Amino acid sequence: MSIIRVLPDHVSNQIAAGEVVERPASVAKELVENSIDAGATRITIEIEGGGRRLLKVSDDGEGMVRDDAVLAFERHATSKIRHTDDLASIATLGFRGEALASIASVAKVELTTQTADAAAATRVTIDGGKMRDVKDAAHPRGTTLTIRDLFFNVPARRKFLRSEATETFHLTNLVTHYALAHPEIAFNFINNGREVLHATAASDLKERAYQVFGQDFLDNLLEVDGGHPQVARVSGYISAPRDRRTSRDSQYLFVNRRFVRDRLIGRALSEGYRSVLPHGVYPAALLFIETPLEEVDVNVHPAKTEVRFRRAAAVADAVRESVRDALAGAGFVREERDPEAGRRGERETGGSGEGDAGGRGDAVGASAAAVGGADFTPRPPSEVSYAPTTIDSEQVRADFNLRPDYQPPSQSKIDFASFMSSVEEALEEETEERDGETGRSGDGERVDQLPPVSASPRPPVSPSLPPLNSAEKFAREVTPESLSANIRPLGQLEESFIIATDDEGLLLIDQHVAHERVLFDKYRTLEAERRSESQQLLVPETFDLTPAQAAVYDQLAPELENYGFELMRLSGRTVAIKATPADLPAGEARTMLAELLDTVDSEKKNTARETLRDEIAASLACHAAIKVNMPLAPEKMRWLIDRLLQTSSPTTCPHGRPVILRLKTRDILKGFHRI
Ligand code: ADP
Ligand code: MG
Repeated sequence: MSIIRVLPDHVSNQIAAGEVVERPASVAKELVENSIDAGATRITIEIEGGGRRLLKVSDDGEGMVRDDAVLAFERHATSKIRHTDDLASIATLGFRGEALASIASVAKVELTTQTADAAAATRVTIDGGKMRDVKDAAHPRGTTLTIRDLFFNVPARRKFLRSEATETFHLTNLVTHYALAHPEIAFNFINNGREVLHATAASDLKERAYQVFGQDFLDNLLEVDGGHPQVARVSGYISAPRDRRTSRDSQYLFVNRRFVRDRLIGRALSEGYRSVLPHGVYPAALLFIETPLEEVDVNVHPAKTEVRFRRAAAVADAVRESVRDALAGAGFVREERDPEAGRRGERETGGSGEGDAGGRGDAVGASAAAVGGADFTPRPPSEVSYAPTTIDSEQVRADFNLRPDYQPPSQSKIDFASFMSSVEEALEEETEERDGETGRSGDGERVDQLPPVSASPRPPVSPSLPPLNSAEKFAREVTPESLSANIRPLGQLEESFIIATDDEGLLLIDQHVAHERVLFDKYRTLEAERRSESQQLLVPETFDLTPAQAAVYDQLAPELENYGFELMRLSGRTVAIKATPADLPAGEARTMLAELLDTVDSEKKNTARETLRDEIAASLACHAAIKVNMPLAPEKMRWLIDRLLQTSSPTTCPHGRPVILRLKTRDILKGFHRI
């Protein structure tokens, strides 16, 4: 007896829905993409109950005639491609013809649509994949899709949905993505009846980013503009190294204006920050990769959030180099293309060309040079507002780590504490999600246990790292371009920090990290020029590798030797250290090697060689550097400051920490009520 059957349509659609429709945000993604593909100039997204109860997307695009409105819900019904060949160069966001069929199979759907020249609009009603009704209706040109009760007929799926706050977070994030990718389209986002985002059509990304995140956010970004048109053009904005996140949530990555979650790009982005950001800490980024259509395959995953590049390595290079250039342009790292640069000892400042940081000695100076071009006039607040409700864009804003006390003009309505608690909760859940899928079955219960979103005020929580300007108010991180050669050391605080003055005020220099930066640059230069200096040990030191260390030892050993180590693998897992790099105290060699072997674990085996080399140099520098709690003679302080000023990045240590804080004379005068 034959037991194989072809599944009925509604079953296969539900199976497909499992891949396309994971959560309300994935439905919104498909609908917004359809609106963009239809040439919309205005898209309104309305949600209730985290998108579960209601998700409505309206556009003023080309609309559909009645036959198409009905056909649109068939699986593999698409107007966007016709032939296999078309798959090789897809210019629209959609093309699989699956989304509407999938969504309609797991929700109650109403489609109302009108073309420019039809006599009346059409309304199609479908519940759980069953067509209920097709009739005339009234609707201006364009399309409205109303999705109610998502997963009403798939209880197993419904259980996987998270709290309203989390689903709203994902929806907000998604709308933010598309709003950024399409500044020319007006976006409105309404959550539980309140308008959360109101962005009129903008002329470019800069203006749109301003509409979405506010001026403070823009001020803190560096502009990226690089790559190669034949492989990948890379443009957008990245955060300065002092701005750090513990997750990749603040990275908005796009390939040909398609929102993607791509490891390759994420990793290349991080590699661009090598030596100025430590591992496990991430920059914020709005990065647009433009490649020729045939260079990228978007047909990798039903949700189309993954892509495959034909020349992946070249794309990664383009991203890394563009990021590096942007950091160099703002003085955070030295331009590297020129091998001579290492020895010249002069600092590049504010070279990105667009603006002028002159006179802005404060914490945003460097990036203002890159972003705050004079040609950009923000719109008046009445036209532009992003007024958060209980949970909304503020999450995204918080992700970008804006100051907790920062409130853009239009935000009188914000209940900051409550949205922060929602952020915290959403982040907690996300972390669980990331930590593994084990907790999943319990989610249904978790939803009920969550505290109400409008919790009583509590202090804002920051995701593990303190907000960047918390230490401050008075003593602030010094930006590279505000540094002059005129620094005079006065003495030490706690035998750990050099107290000095410059033209703008009083400086505190962390002696350990300052020396770390000096040594890091020195080791990197010597290594690059193959001039590393070693010191022979009188008696070789031996140490035993753990099995995990042994697994990476062979990869690391040649690199270590380039830095002046002389290592010999004795029998089994025992290694003898015969010589160490100059400056590294003999007693530190063993600890340093063990630490390094532990960090370069198998997961990072494929890290770019440059990154590995930086890691070694950073570790060497850390172990060889002057420690804290160490008295320094005046000449030694002078020497350290002079050397520091000649490094590639005098204000940031190789692990991304600040090196110098400044208390401005102005603030001192204010403190004494003299001004
Ligand atoms: P795809 O986008 O992959 O083609 P969908 O299932 O998302 O498949 O949509 C099916 C078809 O319905 C589209 O190809 C398009 O012709 C039509 N369509 C869907 N949404 C809209 C819209 N907002 N405006 C105009 N046409 C639309
Ligand atoms: Mg589509």
